[in-house]
Amino acid sequence: MKCGNCSSPISVNLKFCAECGTKVEIKSTASEQDIANYKSILLEFLKDGKIDEDEAAELADLREDFGLSVSMHDDLLNPGRDYALVDL
Ligand SMILES: [Zn+2]
Repeated sequence: MKCGNCSSPISVNLKFCAECGTKVEIKSTASEQDIANYKSILLEFLKDGKIDEDEAAELADLREDFGLSVSMHDDLLNPGRDYALVDL
């Protein structure tokens, strides 16, 4: 994941960015672009109707890179709950 303020890479274990000192909000560090990228990859994986183990592992890595939470992933999988994305 990366800092929402200066985009420096941050360990998920840190509470503050080592570069700029911004508080790390794990749920809100993903930018709209990150979420859009994740969603397009997720939809690509879902084209065959399922997410296999390799794809699930890749998505987990992407979530860590983007700072996306699992609940965000669930929201993306359930279009009826897209309202949660509008506020971001
Ligand atoms: Zn920072």
